[in-house]
Amino acid sequence: MTLGITSFHAPKRTLMGPGPSDVSDRVLKAMARPTLGHLDPLFVGMMDEIKQLLQYAFQTQNELTFAVSAPGSAGMECCFVNLVEPGDVIIVCQNGVFGGRMRENVERCGGTAVMVQDDWGCAVDPSKLEHALNAHPEAVLVAFVHAETSTGVQSDAKTLVSLAHAHDCLTIVDTVTSLVGTPLYVDDWGIDAIYSGSQKCLSAPPGLSPVSFNQRAADKIRNRKTKIQSWFLDLNLVMGYWAGDGKRAYHHTAPVNSLYGLHESLVMVQEEGLEAAWTRHRDNHLALQKGLENMGIHFVVDQQYRLPQLNAVAIPNGVDDAAVRHRLLVDFNLEIGSGLGALAGKVWRIGLMGHASHPRNVDYCLDALKAVL
Ligand SMILES: *Cc1c(COP(=O)(O)O)cnc(C)c1O
Repeated sequence: MTLGITSFHAPKRTLMGPGPSDVSDRVLKAMARPTLGHLDPLFVGMMDEIKQLLQYAFQTQNELTFAVSAPGSAGMECCFVNLVEPGDVIIVCQNGVFGGRMRENVERCGGTAVMVQDDWGCAVDPSKLEHALNAHPEAVLVAFVHAETSTGVQSDAKTLVSLAHAHDCLTIVDTVTSLVGTPLYVDDWGIDAIYSGSQKCLSAPPGLSPVSFNQRAADKIRNRKTKIQSWFLDLNLVMGYWAGDGKRAYHHTAPVNSLYGLHESLVMVQEEGLEAAWTRHRDNHLALQKGLENMGIHFVVDQQYRLPQLNAVAIPNGVDDAAVRHRLLVDFNLEIGSGLGALAGKVWRIGLMGHASHPRNVDYCLDALKAVL
């Protein structure tokens, strides 16, 4: 008996949503290379290079820098389960979907989340954070999202981190969408724990989450009174695998070919240069913005807080959201994102992330939208 199912052949689409973004042929080819044993010395050498390349992308010297073998949500969880102990009071700034997930993480770790709320489409307001820090001197940590993918908003990470430090709090910063798309300086800004994702501006396939922890964060983990509730994400154990020094111990089987893909995408970031990548994201965003505004389509975020890699625009009056996205996908092989949460049905989210941030895609998207509308 056979089910008669044959190989799956994905069509070539243009991915201009909130991620995954287009993966280059170079990265796809890297992933098709022979699978090595995950303790093979050649593979271990490549993992060391990934660490160095991630240190560059994050602009950090942190020893504790590696990729969690799971998507961005697992990087988020890795930061929280390691840094939050039962009874801890954590301040979570929320201005979209992902801040809500941070709250879930805090509560599942047995902590208490003090929420600092800002409207969806607005940046995190530093004065509200300061107010919460003054009202909660018992707080030990501040968490916020640098680039809110659900709304297309960028918050001032440097200011938020310095406020947290002035009140002796550690920081967890979500940079899943900001890494490589927008300026980010982990060491200069003093970010204590950070996580990102492979499928946004890094343009590798989904399923890996770069993370980095500084010495203060590592000390907090080392001095915990309670055992970390997750075996898989316990940094003390994972680092025995990533830290190397010739004594790499089996923890889990690394996703070997996915890491080839991440390595190649990071080599491409290094070749282009971070500053050049940030400029490219900004230039393509400005070109898309001009084209959309010429069509009478308006951005929902104030100019100064707009993310170049994630453009949230109001769906024009009388236009059928789902029908337009369906036609773009079927007629143009083009994916754009719908609204999430409070913005569902109200906005489109047009991504210009990583490899997809290209003048050709700007023109293609504008032409396709014109034809469909
Ligand atoms: C995409 C995203 C995540 C989650 O990443 P997954 O890889 O989907 O788990 C978390 N935070 C932000 C800001 C994101 O954009």
